[in-house]
Amino acid sequence: MTPEAAYAYLPDDWTRICKEAGLPAFRARQIVQGLYRDRIASWEALTTLPGAIRTEFAGRYPLTALREVARTPSSTDGVTKLLLEAADGERIETVWIPADGRITQCISSQVGCDMHCVFCASGQLGCVRSLTAAEIVAEVMTAAHTMGALPNNIVVMGMGEPFMNYDAVIRALRVLNCQQGLNIGARHITLSTCGIVPGISRLAQEGVQFELSVSLHAPNDALRDRLMPVNRRWPIAELLAACDAYTAATGRIITYEYTLVKDFNDSPTHARELIRLLQGRRARVNLIPLSPVAEFDGETPSNAACLTFLDLLLRSGIHTTLRRSRGKQADAACGQLRLRKLKESADGQS
Ligand code: SAH
Repeated sequence: MTPEAAYAYLPDDWTRICKEAGLPAFRARQIVQGLYRDRIASWEALTTLPGAIRTEFAGRYPLTALREVARTPSSTDGVTKLLLEAADGERIETVWIPADGRITQCISSQVGCDMHCVFCASGQLGCVRSLTAAEIVAEVMTAAHTMGALPNNIVVMGMGEPFMNYDAVIRALRVLNCQQGLNIGARHITLSTCGIVPGISRLAQEGVQFELSVSLHAPNDALRDRLMPVNRRWPIAELLAACDAYTAATGRIITYEYTLVKDFNDSPTHARELIRLLQGRRARVNLIPLSPVAEFDGETPSNAACLTFLDLLLRSGIHTTLRRSRGKQADAACGQLRLRKLKESADGQS
């Protein structure tokens, strides 16, 4: 195995690495504590390790650093979006969402996205590259450092399609989850997919308890085709079959995300169609009023339309929530801050 950046390794990996380097097992424990309990900023700071090992490991297993290049704080609700820059200059977003005394961090899995959902700013420019496992962990480490706290919940709902970067994402989430790592409970870690069926099937076999959300956004293929090109590859029936198999294998209930777009998928007829689709399934629904993006001409439905939709689902017995509109000032829709900064720098050059 070629050496990777330090945050890509689980405690067991450090035990093996130390063994191979002829070091006693307690060195592995010191390293893991240094990384995740003390959150050292460099190997130099890990003073419990002999200097020669520090130097050697710093060369072989670098500590991934992401640089904060912009921050959009939202004065009213405390939602803060950070724009972070990787070593190669690529930029990703992560969002810090305090609520009810807990902190949720929304992290990215790719620089951009190739799925091209029409309402999503992340996908407008395609996917530049996937993030490494260490970079994904570093999103949390960097935010913990600059925000001065650790998140209680992680949602992989930032830029990118996590199942198009399956191995790195799962590795990173295992590091965040493991007890000697950041010890964030599996049920406090949520992955969201646009509906990559092989990814859902793989996660079902993974033996982890992460939460799974699936972006459905439409109650029939004709509408979903128009919002999400991925639907042409894995239409609704195939997607729901994979979700049912996931629930059967794991016992976990899937949350279906449904972005409400005015006069497109937000009528009572659409709500009833959605009910027919999900009734009898173990499912939850999270309604998200569209967050307007310049690149898509859809509009946010009225509050009344959202509440009517919510009410119909609730009456049918489907556990449904309506996401409060938060982080508007933070350019909180996926990829908006990065896109704005890219455009600003393009304007600056012209
Ligand atoms: N690639 C993953 C994570 C994306 S972001 C996925 O597709 O699930 C999390 C959710 O926000 C997804 O359901 C996504 O479709 C939705 N979303 C993206 N842009 C949005 C916008 N402008 N308004 C409302 N929801 C949006």
